[in-house]
Amino acid sequence: MKQKSAEILCIGTELLMGNTVNTNAAYLGRELAHLGVNVYRQEVVGDNPQRLRESLEQAFSRCDIVITTGGLGPTYDDLSKETIAAYFGRSLVLDPPSLARIEEHFRLLNREMTENNRKQAMMPQGCTIFPNPNGTAPGCAIEQDGKLAFMLPGPPREMKPMFEHYVAPYLMEQSDTKLVSRMIHLFGIGESALEHKLHDVMVASTNPTLAPYAKSGEVMLRVTARVTQGEDGESLLAPMLETVRQAAGEFIYGIDIGSLQNAAVQKLLEKGLTVATAESCTGGYVSKRLTEVSGSSQVLGYGVCTYANQAKEQLLGVSHSTLETFGAVSSQTAKEMADGVRRLSGADIGISTTGIAGPLGGTEEKPVGLVYVGVSSKYYNHVLELHINPRGDDAREYIRYIASSHALHQLWKAANMA
Ligand code: AMP
Ligand code: MG
Repeated sequence: MKQKSAEILCIGTELLMGNTVNTNAAYLGRELAHLGVNVYRQEVVGDNPQRLRESLEQAFSRCDIVITTGGLGPTYDDLSKETIAAYFGRSLVLDPPSLARIEEHFRLLNREMTENNRKQAMMPQGCTIFPNPNGTAPGCAIEQDGKLAFMLPGPPREMKPMFEHYVAPYLMEQSDTKLVSRMIHLFGIGESALEHKLHDVMVASTNPTLAPYAKSGEVMLRVTARVTQGEDGESLLAPMLETVRQAAGEFIYGIDIGSLQNAAVQKLLEKGLTVATAESCTGGYVSKRLTEVSGSSQVLGYGVCTYANQAKEQLLGVSHSTLETFGAVSSQTAKEMADGVRRLSGADIGISTTGIAGPLGGTEEKPVGLVYVGVSSKYYNHVLELHINPRGDDAREYIRYIASSHALHQLWKAANMA
């Protein structure tokens, strides 16, 4: 994508009013950067044809590619197609395959299609149409006089797949190079500590590049190589992957693995192992995340939420005296919960959580954010003591989520050791 530059133009009065957070711009910015397209500006404009026209004119006076989202819907305020088609001097024409898909969409929903939905099948003359399997509004691309406009639907669950399946390949097609990349997933190290270890490599890296990403307690490193057609990307990536392994191998739990729960389930499947969970402060978060993964029924048979002491005793066999002496939030209780659920379920690995999610219930000795994660297995028995810093305006959710991440990581570790 030599020298080409792009601007992102998000359309919708709801974005200006702050009713909808502009997540589309963040997504597109990230993905375009990854494709090697230079994005120089992002703009939001309301559902107003004059102002949209102005924004388009200004954007195309500065760059070659404009990507819009929103305003493709069936209602009167959705005017993106009309306005953008007019900018290119084109009229809207009915696209019969799009109309057929919209009719089919309503037939599957068993709902009457209203007349205004026909509007969504009216497309700018001569455009490339992108079908929308997740909604009714198709997207499209128009190319003219060295200008390229993409129109994508507003709802993220429609926009993202369309970008991935049609826009990214469209852009790559025009480029004489392609990108190959690997996402390295790490857990147990912060972004700044990781950057410290790899700072010089990150700064010096050009091809491949090494870039860190952090999200909710996890860090990822993306290694990206740009190769010309026919060149082998893998051999460019390999030395960089090795450098990262040397620097932070102990924290890596997978490459291109997606998430901790994916990594845990995959590892259990690979080793032919099963797990059972006994959760207190996470209230089922660990089993929820495990069951998000297709195939998890082969590895997870039991998951209990034992919130009350009585439940810990009755369902898991935690001893009364342990609870009396050390309390529900203690290393001893976490251990007995993990051992108990493993014994009672017959699973290979038992995982437990117990802690104080707050905002109430903390004491000097046991503050909010104190969490124990227990692992019970033949190969690895451990109780992890966590002090999770209550963060953000939903600290309770944050603590529960981070605790579940540690539990999944401990599970992965136990399975990996087997
Ligand atoms: P539209 O295609 O303009 O009718 O948008 C439909 C819906 O998509 C809106 O009501 C929002 O919920 C969502 N949406 C539109 N634009 C964005 C955006 N830039 N970021 C996130 N959500 C959006
Ligand atoms: Mg709209």
